[in-house]
Amino acid sequence: MIKKYIGALEAGGTKMVCAVGDINGNIIDKVRIPTTTPDETLRCCFDYFLEKNIDALGIASFGPLDLNINSDTYGYITTTPKPGWQFTDLVGMASKALDVPIGFDTDVNGSLLGEVTFGDARGFSDVVYYTFGTGVGVGVMSGGRLVHGMMHPEAGHMLVLPRDDDRYHGHCSFHRFCLEGMASGPAIEERFGEKGELLSERMDVWELESFYIAQAMVNTILMLSPQRIILGGGVMEQRSLFPLIREKTSAFLNGYINTKEISDIDSYIVPASLNGDQGIKGCFKLALDSVKYAE
Ligand code: ADP
Ligand code: ZN
Repeated sequence: MIKKYIGALEAGGTKMVCAVGDINGNIIDKVRIPTTTPDETLRCCFDYFLEKNIDALGIASFGPLDLNINSDTYGYITTTPKPGWQFTDLVGMASKALDVPIGFDTDVNGSLLGEVTFGDARGFSDVVYYTFGTGVGVGVMSGGRLVHGMMHPEAGHMLVLPRDDDRYHGHCSFHRFCLEGMASGPAIEERFGEKGELLSERMDVWELESFYIAQAMVNTILMLSPQRIILGGGVMEQRSLFPLIREKTSAFLNGYINTKEISDIDSYIVPASLNGDQGIKGCFKLALDSVKYAE
């Protein structure tokens, strides 16, 4: 039973965000810890939670992850390219250190869960959350459940068609023309020679970026029929992208889907609503659910 506080651990490649909250998802305290080695980083995180006396912990992590509860490596970060973090037993280490129920999911499923539980997407059962940052991640809720399946969706690597005049070779070492390879923050930086945050005035950059993101929107709409699509991550700070993405998505769909959601596309493809705390709030929900399942 939750007596007082729950913990949230948003595990990222550059930083860990640790927070303590109440059962209504209010953040009481939050710290950032740089991601170095697993032992050093996680020790700092666990010390923080030990001091706060939490009753349950939700972890949303960069991946790939093993989310299959019946697997020997459940709770592990598996084949990540992040040096030193391959096959890190995140849930096992947390459970040993803290001895509380633990909920675990991908970083993007965490953000999605935060938006659906505490944000503007409350009440929806079918939602897709994209993050466009150093990589491209996608979280999926279908019929009220976060989709795991064989492992978890890796739709950041869906294939996209290159624009005729785009000679860029892509930033992904696995695929020539995937979404992450063509539209992640590092892809923008490599293609245009400067970070996205310094390219606000360059409309050609956002025209091209929205061409790739809109392809992902169309694939998502046709495949999953979501009630809403939320776009987060550093690249989406570029707010001029939203109208471009909506316009191109409608143009690519070309009238094929005629729902009230698509006709009101401004409220269909939207930014995240929780001021960057969607991941942490999703972890709170994972923590609350872990208690429910443990009891
Ligand atoms: P991470 O994915 O590493 O967790 P972010 O979501 O902040 O972190 O994404 C970082 C990427 O987003 C970088 O490639 C950066 O250049 C890009 N980025 C950050 N802010 C902006 C912005 N305002 N416009 C466009 N790109 C941005
Ligand atoms: Zn790829």
